[in-house]
Amino acid sequence: GDSFLSVQDLRVSFQTEDGVVRAVDGLSFEVEKGTTLGIVGESGSGKSVTNLAILGLHDPDRTELGGEIWFEDQELIGASRTAMERLRGDRIAMIFQDPLTSLSPYHTVGRQIGEVYRKHKGASKKEARDRAIEMLERVGIPHARTRVDDYPHHFSGGMRQRVMIAMALVCDPDLLIADEPTTALDVTVQAQVLDLLKDLQQQTGTAIILITHDLGVIARAAHQVLVMYAGRAAERGTVREVLTEPRHPYTWGLLSSIPRLGAPVDVPLTPIRGTPPSMLAPPPGCPFHPRCDYVAAAGPQLCTGERPDLSPATGHGDACYLTRAQKQEFLGQIKGRQ
Ligand code: SF4
Ligand code: MG
Repeated sequence: GDSFLSVQDLRVSFQTEDGVVRAVDGLSFEVEKGTTLGIVGESGSGKSVTNLAILGLHDPDRTELGGEIWFEDQELIGASRTAMERLRGDRIAMIFQDPLTSLSPYHTVGRQIGEVYRKHKGASKKEARDRAIEMLERVGIPHARTRVDDYPHHFSGGMRQRVMIAMALVCDPDLLIADEPTTALDVTVQAQVLDLLKDLQQQTGTAIILITHDLGVIARAAHQVLVMYAGRAAERGTVREVLTEPRHPYTWGLLSSIPRLGAPVDVPLTPIRGTPPSMLAPPPGCPFHPRCDYVAAAGPQLCTGERPDLSPATGHGDACYLTRAQKQEFLGQIKGRQ
């Protein structure tokens, strides 16, 4: 296809006082030009760690990386620090949950957006300022010409997130990594920011990796989705496939534990029992098996034996030993209960 970011058998582990944490353990996925891949999972599923590795922002002294990350014809694992610094902010940009971690309180937003542009594009101060104003306008900040001289704390949470998006997109990156970009915002502002990202993507063709724990965000903003559990892919497909015909028991659990849009608020939600595994000593076999209600159906030998891989290898795939017929039957039962 048109994929230009390809992650192959990624492994990320780091040394802690308690031992080696295998935060990501054999993860493969691709991102296509101009599309949004949503990566969803609980905290500790490895989704943020994966993206720090793509950005080269992991701590090189404590972290061990394996596998391959191809960005067009460049392999990013083992790329030099200088090469990563050149890519970051220019061709690969990022936004995080809290804009204040990326924005300095000491400089005006115009200066900060302009600096990124100057660093990568060699622009003059005047060009950088004009570009900052243009970007603030594009992300929908009213009175951009005067607000360009304001400091981050002069902006509301939602407006600050727009400023951060302006800064991330100032060099026209090919890939934007957005880690929980709207989690701190109230629901209305959240929707506005997600829609803004979509509009900007349509104008620029930037691909987006959107990391979230929230399937509502995925439904609103992503094209493809990767469900992560315990450092592995549990399910992958288009948003439509995964949200309407989910095949993995963990995805069923995620879907049953969020309120359905428009559903009466007193409909009981079913949280997934248990807690995510410790990545110091992940369970053998399918990492979800200690929390899964379908082990007996799939066969305990299978679920606790080999780790399941995504199957089929392309398209809508899931890593679960239940047969296709069983998945359809159980999903039917779950839908019947909702
Ligand atoms: Fe559950 Fe077994 Fe499927 Fe894992 S492989 S999700 S434990 S049924
Ligand atoms: Mg995170």
